[in-house]
Amino acid sequence: MFNALIVDKDEDGKTQSQVTQIALTDLPEAEVTVAVEYSTVNYKDGLCLGPGGGLVRKYPHIPGIDFAGTVEASSDTRYKPGDKVVLTGWRVGEAHWGGYAQKARVRADWLGPLPEGLSTRQAMAVGTAGFTAMLCVMALEDHGMQPGHGPVLVTGAAGGVGSVATAILANLGYEVAAVTGRPEADDYLRSLGAAQIVAREDLSDVTRKPLESETWAGCVDAVGGAMLGRVLKQMKYGASVAAVGLAGGAAIEGALITPFILRGVNLLGIDSVMRPYADRARAWERIARDLPMDKLETMVTPATLSDLPALGRDILAGQVKGRIVVDVNA
Ligand code: NDP
Repeated sequence: MFNALIVDKDEDGKTQSQVTQIALTDLPEAEVTVAVEYSTVNYKDGLCLGPGGGLVRKYPHIPGIDFAGTVEASSDTRYKPGDKVVLTGWRVGEAHWGGYAQKARVRADWLGPLPEGLSTRQAMAVGTAGFTAMLCVMALEDHGMQPGHGPVLVTGAAGGVGSVATAILANLGYEVAAVTGRPEADDYLRSLGAAQIVAREDLSDVTRKPLESETWAGCVDAVGGAMLGRVLKQMKYGASVAAVGLAGGAAIEGALITPFILRGVNLLGIDSVMRPYADRARAWERIARDLPMDKLETMVTPATLSDLPALGRDILAGQVKGRIVVDVNA
């Protein structure tokens, strides 16, 4: 028997979650059984810990969209007992049982080896949010972003994606402008390497202006909504925005076609969930190389399985700073 955070839904559609003991035989059929060491809390976990946001299909459910641990048993030749592994995406924790348990059983295709140079704890300090931040930086580089071209904007900067993006970009020599709605996060963001702090309200009004002054040489956008509509109009000629999230809304309010046709601005969609294996390996290698581990450590708040229901509510309310690392065995 082992501990798992089980979410269940009653007849009125209300969800409750609690740490419960379950058996290995309760886990779904799949090739690889993993002794989970660490998981984390991403925005999507907040949705899956609550009413589900349409992501969870079947209850009872174990959320946790990512985890790192050690293989216990495998019927797939790619993995053997003792291998250290990491998992992000593939709808694990949404459509499939996830990492909020001491053990998980998943398809071998969904796993990757723990990146060289990272511990399981560090891999989950990065987690889906940090992994996706790296995918954003790589997409922006592929579209010509280089240090010295001007400030690079990071929205939702004190959150998970934003914190890791800020630290990676600053370490690569970019001048990072960090957008936050939390003035108290100023020192934290500067410690990650932000050169300037932009108040959320400076970018949250919807405007019908076709263009604003050319300001940003790139942008990692975790917020979407009206902020993305504004930011597009402030991009420098030929610059790109990596659109990764919707913490501020799914509709790009106030967006016009003008930045695309008059300034050649690119809007790059970033998905981490179904990302092919080769890209994943490249992103984890870059994380091990380009994300300073001392900076990563300053983002971490430790947690246990029983802390998760409250943390799920906090992340949906935009109240989580940086990254949470869940020790599922604590
Ligand atoms: P967090 O909650 O950690 O960060 C989101 C941040 O956005 C908050 O910390 C806050 O930053 C800011 N924010 C929150 N609400 C608002 C609002 N109403 N208006 C403006 N800003 C707001 O979440 P994550 O970093 O884990 O995820 C960020 C987004 O990226 C989510 O939408 C998530 O679903 C998405 N995502 C997408 C992935 C993909 O594959 N495409 C993978 C991972 C995440 P501050 O306080 O600094 O203003």
